[in-house]
Amino acid sequence: MPIVHSRPTISQIEAQAVLRVLRSGQISGGPVVQRFETAVRRYLGVRDAAAVSSGTAGLHLSLVALGVGKGQDVILPTHVCTALLNAVHYVGARPVLVDVNYEDGNISVDDVKRRLSRKTGAILVPHMWGMPADLGALIRLGVPVIEDCAQAAGALYKGKPVGTWGRINVFSFYATKMLTTGEGGMVVSRDLKLMKIVRDRLSYDHRPAYEVRYNYKMTDLQAALGEVQISKLDRFIARRKSIAAVYRQALEPLTGRGAVLPVVPKEKTSSFYRFVVKVPDAQKAIRRLKARGVNAERPLFEPLHSYSRQKGFPVSDRLMKECISLPLYPSLTDAQAKVVIREFVNLFDKGRSLA
Ligand SMILES: *Cc1c(COP(=O)(O)O)cnc(C)c1O
Repeated sequence: MPIVHSRPTISQIEAQAVLRVLRSGQISGGPVVQRFETAVRRYLGVRDAAAVSSGTAGLHLSLVALGVGKGQDVILPTHVCTALLNAVHYVGARPVLVDVNYEDGNISVDDVKRRLSRKTGAILVPHMWGMPADLGALIRLGVPVIEDCAQAAGALYKGKPVGTWGRINVFSFYATKMLTTGEGGMVVSRDLKLMKIVRDRLSYDHRPAYEVRYNYKMTDLQAALGEVQISKLDRFIARRKSIAAVYRQALEPLTGRGAVLPVVPKEKTSSFYRFVVKVPDAQKAIRRLKARGVNAERPLFEPLHSYSRQKGFPVSDRLMKECISLPLYPSLTDAQAKVVIREFVNLFDKGRSLA
């Protein structure tokens, strides 16, 4: 049996919670969504949290709430999945792609500065692989920051959780994210005016005045799952961190031979959504690992600039060539982690560097 790259961590407690909702007869529009929202609000210490059907829906509603649309630019990093690009197109704004940092794969503040203009309506800031982006510098630019915390629930920037820094911020609870509701998401903000718009637009029924609205509601079945999952989030992160520490210690000797390990700067605490190692030829290494039963993956399918055939994103291109994401999730056993390490070290056989 190969060691899979990622998987949800779900137990009997979640199963029972979902079953209770099923048996209650109220599987949507019930009280569990509100309870889950309250749990997220308390966990983060934000003023309001609205559950939605996906992270993508949350990104869309955040742009809607900020009033970003036609004639405006939204800055976003190229080194992300297309969900962010889709949200920008949903509101008719122009996506402006920027490059990322080599160290952490996060949006490059210098590149954002170069592309900033009077037309910039918002900056989409994903915290890649669980590592907080440079929030302080980005917020100081004076343009609304939307944090995309899809990969970083529970990560900290200067001791405070991600999702509490930007004007309006989004989480995803897709199957393999930090916590899951199958599909799902959450929009959070301290700005109640923005949240009022989000709550108004995310469902359509029983409204006195017509507006274009969406059906982006989360079901109570999903929320039941989420309520249990968020109660486990700190334990999930602790387990991820301890596996990451084991990986780091075991792989440290390879750093002089072509491997680059993740760094965690002092003011940041990663949630270790991914443990991304860089090697000169990631594709070759991934192929060899898979042949040995370790399903390592490239952390990104394609950068956004490749779809529009744009050039000038050298760091993202380099990351595509070099990055390997090793299996990492709370239910990965110590024995499995040992196998991952053994096979990764074996790539560097007989003391040679990995060419
Ligand atoms: C998963 C992910 C999304 C999209 O979330 P969905 O719930 O799948 O719509 C957005 N941004 C980032 C950084 C993600 O990892």
